[in-house]
Amino acid sequence: MLDRAQSPAPVLIILGPPGAGKGTQARRLEQDFGLIQLSTGDLLRAAVAAQTPAGLRARSVMEAGGLVSDDIVTAILRDRMAQADCARGVILDGFPRTQVQAEALDALLAETGQRINAAISLNVDDAAMVTRIAGRYTCANCGEGWHDSFKQPQVDGVCDRCGGTTFKRRPDDTPDTVASRLAAYHDQTAPLIAYYRARGALIGIDAMGDIDTITQKLGAIVKTATR
Ligand code: ADP
Ligand code: ZN
Repeated sequence: MLDRAQSPAPVLIILGPPGAGKGTQARRLEQDFGLIQLSTGDLLRAAVAAQTPAGLRARSVMEAGGLVSDDIVTAILRDRMAQADCARGVILDGFPRTQVQAEALDALLAETGQRINAAISLNVDDAAMVTRIAGRYTCANCGEGWHDSFKQPQVDGVCDRCGGTTFKRRPDDTPDTVASRLAAYHDQTAPLIAYYRARGALIGIDAMGDIDTITQKLGAIVKTATR
């Protein structure tokens, strides 16, 4: 029988265009399975806010909806993966986004004796992504996500979850920038679907349904893939 203590920490990848729900779902899987959500978008936004050298270089690229250079993103990911909590296993949200990053991840996992348990692709309609992203905002206090059309607080301007009254929108959530981000996804990231399919790691799911239904589907996949 396999000794659980000896088996390497699981690695799950969530692939999908901007707005597909990668972050929302990864946060839920983090809670349900005790895995660590690693979002390179969040790590980069933190670097921008802290004005680190990498953050200063990444800022304008992110605001224009382009992809930050592979060396910056890979270095940030590598540092984060080396932290102790990642020994529980990780859900990669927004990484890899290019072939170079996918190969860098393979090399990194080879060093630690880990493997990719599953690469889950969230299949959605592009047209819907623009509306989803352009209307979204979050509570500045608790981080709860809201939407101008799909999910408004019960009382206008007050967060249901924490009572906060300050909200924020990402500077790259404008319609023009979303179009650039979708184009970057199709050019550079979508080819990774074939990359992971070729090695039998790909699981595609229809992700146009409601959030809870998708969480249930993902939960079942994660359970099987990390067994
Ligand atoms: P989304 O998936 O909705 O576009 P993210 O928060 O994942 O949002 O990413 C926001 C931005 O951060 C991207 O548009 C890109 O500029 C940058 N970024 C995040 N992850 C990567 C990555 N792996 N490689 C290059 N750029 C990245
Ligand atoms: Zn709140």
